[in-house]
Amino acid sequence: MKKILVLHTGGTIAMSENKNGGVTPTSRNPLDEAPDFFHGQIDLQTEDVFNLPSPHIGPKEMLKIQQRILRASDQGFAGVVVTHGTDTLEETAYFLDLTVPDELPVVVTGAMRSANEIGSDGLHNLQTAIQTAASDEAKGKGALVVMNDEIHTARFVTKTHTTNVATFQTPSFGPIGLVTKKKVIFFEKLLSHSYHPIDQVVDHVYLIKAYAGMDPELLQLIDQPQTNGVVIEALGAGNLPPQVLPALKSLLDQQIPVILVSRCFNGIAQEVYAYQGGGIQLGKLGVTFCHGLNGQKARIKLLVGLSYGLKGAALKTYLNDAIS
Ligand code: ASP
Repeated sequence: MKKILVLHTGGTIAMSENKNGGVTPTSRNPLDEAPDFFHGQIDLQTEDVFNLPSPHIGPKEMLKIQQRILRASDQGFAGVVVTHGTDTLEETAYFLDLTVPDELPVVVTGAMRSANEIGSDGLHNLQTAIQTAASDEAKGKGALVVMNDEIHTARFVTKTHTTNVATFQTPSFGPIGLVTKKKVIFFEKLLSHSYHPIDQVVDHVYLIKAYAGMDPELLQLIDQPQTNGVVIEALGAGNLPPQVLPALKSLLDQQIPVILVSRCFNGIAQEVYAYQGGGIQLGKLGVTFCHGLNGQKARIKLLVGLSYGLKGAALKTYLNDAIS
């Protein structure tokens, strides 16, 4: 019988609605009362890592989840499911993708409606996540996100809607599988997956969004000795307003890695435009283009790379290479 470890970390999936309509954690996690979905055919072991709304989760908490998962592979578990709040779920899932070996399937799930709301999706998502973690085909695919019967890669999935149960989508590429009543079906392959088993996390890694008329003060404010790196969600194919160039250059002169992604929902950032602030000029200044990740994912990747001790050209290659 397969042994699956279920790690609860909080979020709506572990909350209930109170009589005033507020959704909040309760003294007893409703997931503790989850039924035996698999009628004794899967050996489920459940642990609470912590019980936090996901806006309270940061890299230190992600590391705690990762450390528990690393121990699970030596304890005979065939897979791990992590339940998590959906607000930052994609970041924790990607952190695990980048730091856990992929022989052990890791599946992250959550819920958009709490335990006692009509149409609550928590138990169903938990059940399908366990089904996926127990599937032999889930091995070697990196961390996965299972929500609303779809299987997505942690690398590319993102939360797209504030309340809809179909909130998790993979722009550009789509899901890689489906969970049906009878089986788990994968219909796409990941080209590659690598991991870096870090045991500490650096801080002061920032994420900034570009906008029309962007104020250079934002970059000047993070021009500090403690700054370890910055990701900028640039405009379109990867361009910035020219007035931020002096502040950007100052960061780069101090060897602070500056990573560029696009603020567009679909597509990849590339060095295309040759005008002032265009991608070609940004590339020449030393900005690193990260292909295919959104801003929050690129920040997690930068943080993991820095925490692993990557620098200079090695860090650049690590950040460049998100798709292949
Ligand atoms: N705000 C909640 C959280 O992320 C939302 C959710 O779980 O879906 O904890």
